[in-house]
Amino acid sequence: MSCQVTCGCGVNYNIANVYCKRCNSEKWKHRFPNWTTGNYALNELIKNSQHSAKTDYELIEWIDFSDLQDLNQIDPGVYEAVWKSGPLTNCYEDNPGDFLTIHYTPFWNMIGNNWNRSPEYKVSIKEFTDFPVFLKEVICDELF
Ligand SMILES: [Zn+2]
Repeated sequence: MSCQVTCGCGVNYNIANVYCKRCNSEKWKHRFPNWTTGNYALNELIKNSQHSAKTDYELIEWIDFSDLQDLNQIDPGVYEAVWKSGPLTNCYEDNPGDFLTIHYTPFWNMIGNNWNRSPEYKVSIKEFTDFPVFLKEVICDELF
């Protein structure tokens, strides 16, 4: 079965490589003024990942605390929560649960003029008190 996705820029992609770097990095760039972590180094790390990501797995995104709910401590310094907006996804269903109505996109939904997301997504949160240790862990995660 051959399946291709056409991005808004006109480029065709196979589903396995559907993140359009050119379009998505521009869309992230336009949103840079809309958020801040409050830390310059962390802002730059996130912006750099959004600028250079070739897949969604290389992407770091700032999640504002207001976009989390049901925060629950599961260990000292470790929490679980529900990310209301959720991570990016390359597909959506017209009728949830009906795989026949799945549509694939290059993560950007041209109809909704926003990214496709999997809302109400359960996430783990790790508390850091030492910022250099945090940066080292994030950078190592980004490299591997
Ligand atoms: Zn594109």
